[in-house]
Amino acid sequence: MSRSLVRSFAIAQLLVVPLFGCGPAEPADVADNQPTPDLLSGPVPDLLSTVDPDCPADLTCEDIPAAYKLRDAMTGSYGNYDVANRPADGQAIRYIVIHTTEGRWDGVVSHFQNPTASASAHYLVGSQAGRIAKFVAPKHVAWHAGNWYFNMHSIGIEHEAIAIEGKTWFTDAMYEASAKLVRHLAKSYGVPLDREHIIGHDEIPGVTASKQSGMHWDPGPYWDWDRYMQLLLSPLPSDVDPGTDGAPIVLRPGYAKNLQKGTYCYGATGGDCRDVTESPANFVYLRTAPDAMAPLIENQYLKGWPGDRMNNWGTKLGTGPIYVRAEQKGDWEAIYFGGQKAWFQNPGRGLTRKASAMMIMPKSGLPSAPVYGVAYPMDAAFMPPTKPVSMEKIYDVPAGHRYALAARTTGDYYWAKEYVASHDPSKQIVVKDGTEYYQIHFNHRVAWVRAVDFELVSTP
Ligand SMILES: [Zn+2]
Repeated sequence: MSRSLVRSFAIAQLLVVPLFGCGPAEPADVADNQPTPDLLSGPVPDLLSTVDPDCPADLTCEDIPAAYKLRDAMTGSYGNYDVANRPADGQAIRYIVIHTTEGRWDGVVSHFQNPTASASAHYLVGSQAGRIAKFVAPKHVAWHAGNWYFNMHSIGIEHEAIAIEGKTWFTDAMYEASAKLVRHLAKSYGVPLDREHIIGHDEIPGVTASKQSGMHWDPGPYWDWDRYMQLLLSPLPSDVDPGTDGAPIVLRPGYAKNLQKGTYCYGATGGDCRDVTESPANFVYLRTAPDAMAPLIENQYLKGWPGDRMNNWGTKLGTGPIYVRAEQKGDWEAIYFGGQKAWFQNPGRGLTRKASAMMIMPKSGLPSAPVYGVAYPMDAAFMPPTKPVSMEKIYDVPAGHRYALAARTTGDYYWAKEYVASHDPSKQIVVKDGTEYYQIHFNHRVAWVRAVDFELVSTP
């Protein structure tokens, strides 16, 4: 969520929140007249049909609705989310996005309940005791990702924490409750439990070039992805990296022993810039050459930012996503990352694991191929009352550079521009066409490319 907005929270009054169980007794989305399954004589029902798809039976989800209100009848402005009917309306839920709140529980609640906030998330997990709130039902589109495409296709989960102080906020109880919730939601909605679909807000690209530098960096360097994927019962790859050139690999350095230092600008105005104590982290720094003294790489939208700032995601290779090895020199590895060859030290290949993925590269003959932050349909697919929504190139993949193919999809866009009392398919339209896209981890963040610009490459 927005740091500046959260920072300005007044001490919120203690909210008296009724505890609504999320178990089978409260199937909020099931019509009253739905027949009760006859467990004695009928067929064995699908397990999920007897439980709330939005909260696991062994957790308590407090129901704290986010504001959904018309703010101004003249302009039609409204907040804090869009009503939808996912996935039945044609919008698949394919991602779960991990956030940190940058403020305390009560401030988050009052923020999401304020219809002028223009922000919401589906869930909040507390730092202590694994407390969980549900603000927006997963069938609706919450405003959390800062990228409409990812809002359309994701469930957003806030965690009560300040990213730069992650180690004091990310408690065992928080990790365990969050993982329980995510496992349940992934099963309910068919979200793959891998690092291309369970992603941090810091892995979501901006929609346009001008939006890249302002994209958020939560949950940040101290979220233990290795541990989290184990708690999701879908651990990161463990096979030894044999060092094959041109092969897909993942960073898995082991959180506790991967000590990293850097700098950060603390304080309300960000003026208190100083060293951050060396501590376990989920990333390694990437350099322009195989040399510990070589400069860190630079993202074109973060020019002038010190590379060792903890919020400079442009220099950081994160734990879990799949990249492709470009070159090796002694203990150093280069991967294709952000349209460059980016280097990190990997003695004995102890920091990486073998991954399996198809790869893609720009079609032969092309000098480069464009990279996008969204996967929308072509203009011709937008029929009235919808209007074409253009896509803007945010990066280029140079000829010969390879990226791991994380997912394939076709273009879609949720046209939802007005406040409605309930989901209205005549006003809230899912625009689709057959434009094929490939998802990649282009740099620290995911991105989309058009299939027409790329060719598939087999694993060596
Ligand atoms: Zn966030």
